[in-house]
Amino acid sequence: MRGRRHHQPDGTQLRYAYGPEPQTSICTIERSTLHRRLLEHVLRLSNVEIRFEHRCLHVERTGAEIHFQGPAGPVVVPSGGHLVTGCDGVWSRVRAAVQASTGVPFSVTTHSHRYKALTMNDEATRSLDREAMHVWTHGRQMVVAQPRWDGGFSAALLAPPQAFARLSSPTAIRGFFERCLPTLSPLLARATEDLMAHRVGRLTTVSGRRWHSGNLLVIGDAAHGMVPLFGQGMNASFEDARLLADQMGGAQGDWRRAVPRFTASRVADGRAIARMSHDNYPELAGGDAVQPGLQAWRALEQQMMLRHRDVPVSFHNLVCFSHTPYRKALRCKARQVAMFGRLLRGKRDVSDLDGSTVDAELRAHRSFVDRVARGAA
Ligand SMILES: Cc1cc2nc3c(=O)[nH]c(=O)nc-3n(C[C@H](O)[C@H](O)[C@H](O)COP(=O)(O)OP(=O)(O)OC[C@H]3O[C@@H](n4cnc5c(N)ncnc54)[C@H](O)[C@@H]3O)c2cc1C
Repeated sequence: MRGRRHHQPDGTQLRYAYGPEPQTSICTIERSTLHRRLLEHVLRLSNVEIRFEHRCLHVERTGAEIHFQGPAGPVVVPSGGHLVTGCDGVWSRVRAAVQASTGVPFSVTTHSHRYKALTMNDEATRSLDREAMHVWTHGRQMVVAQPRWDGGFSAALLAPPQAFARLSSPTAIRGFFERCLPTLSPLLARATEDLMAHRVGRLTTVSGRRWHSGNLLVIGDAAHGMVPLFGQGMNASFEDARLLADQMGGAQGDWRRAVPRFTASRVADGRAIARMSHDNYPELAGGDAVQPGLQAWRALEQQMMLRHRDVPVSFHNLVCFSHTPYRKALRCKARQVAMFGRLLRGKRDVSDLDGSTVDAELRAHRSFVDRVARGAA
């Protein structure tokens, strides 16, 4: 996806490019395809044993044993002093053990919005730009659709729980889409069945200051579950794996040295991206109704990206298209917000801006981003 398209009620679309270069594009992949590819890879490794259908019930806070419910009954696995890495999602059992051991609590919070998957009509979505994420909004309700590799689109409705409660009959569902999201309605394959049959999903944020204790460690959503409003949950989890592997390599496989080095900076990164994801709702939902001045903000960002391709002006792009640690991207975001506030104060739109002021601001911003990257700011 090279950008986003926000569908307006009159049928027009507002297009926002992620950047001027082809490499500023986001790869989308279906969850099932990704799972299959990962599994195929792991099955080729001779030093990995996989046990399916083993539900972890409990992890001892000492890290000595892990208790599972297997298909044939309870199974207790002694850790033997090895590292136990819990990547068991937002309701992690391993995290419960880390928390019980350190006494430092994680916060687990639920977003004001819930979600349900929607099936799109493959034939009807042929008219949609396949290189974009598509967004339709009505009040606090939003549908996001992303292209799939097989030619179709995956979509989800995000809305407050009260809105889902109102969509409880075929008449209410049909009426909602036809009246409130008329340009989306013909693209949906079976909105009524989807909304009546699927359960409402919660969007959960997990945030904590201690991810490990003894030989217990959590990574991925178990450590930093985040709402999917920035599209970074999976990316952040893969990055955890890469950084942990780097530290393990650097410490010749000694987890006692590698894990504290890994968590030393990664905990702050996890907290930063969880926060940026939560705060990204207006950006994704779009429109001045959600956040006054957002259209002018976007116009300025697009203009700056085109005029100064070498300046990493957009914090979104720092997060998505660079390896800038999330905690540093968060600092750059704060500065970008302040810079845009200064530039846009009292202006009706970007055409009122003076080019030399914009250039001076951008030079200062580039210098800041460079210093943050070097750890000098
Ligand atoms: C609607 C939605 C849209 C999203 N969109 C994006 C996106 O566009 N881009 C992006 O990067 N991320 C996205 N994410 C986030 C992404 O799905 C997660 O961040 C990612 O899956 C985290 O990977 P994980 O391996 O840490 O956890 P999970 O994928 O949750 O995997 C945890 C695994 O542990 C297993 N497990 C859990 N409990 C136990 C137990 N007690 N015993 C045994 N096994 C257990 C589960 O079965 C599962 O296999 C989205 C999430 C949602 C909900």
